[in-house]
Amino acid sequence: MHLSCQEIFDFLIDYQEGKLSWWQRMKFRLHLWMCPPCARYLKAYSASSEIFRQALEQDPPPESLMELTENFLRKQRRDAPPEPTRKD
Ligand SMILES: [Zn+2]
Repeated sequence: MHLSCQEIFDFLIDYQEGKLSWWQRMKFRLHLWMCPPCARYLKAYSASSEIFRQALEQDPPPESLMELTENFLRKQRRDAPPEPTRKD
């Protein structure tokens, strides 16, 4: 049921073009919460893709279930050890 990282990249174009179902979008967003490497990649990707950034911002969680899940995952992320700071 969970998407793999490869599936996230496969879904990226469809996500941009609005072709994903509600459930696919939810899984896509959940993966980003659970997978910092993908979240970082998509953040960098979105920097060069205004459409993608807007799609993320304009896609609100449709159900309270989604909100509860995100709150749960946010708490887990907060409890996770901090990422190493970048050294120049
Ligand atoms: Zn991933």
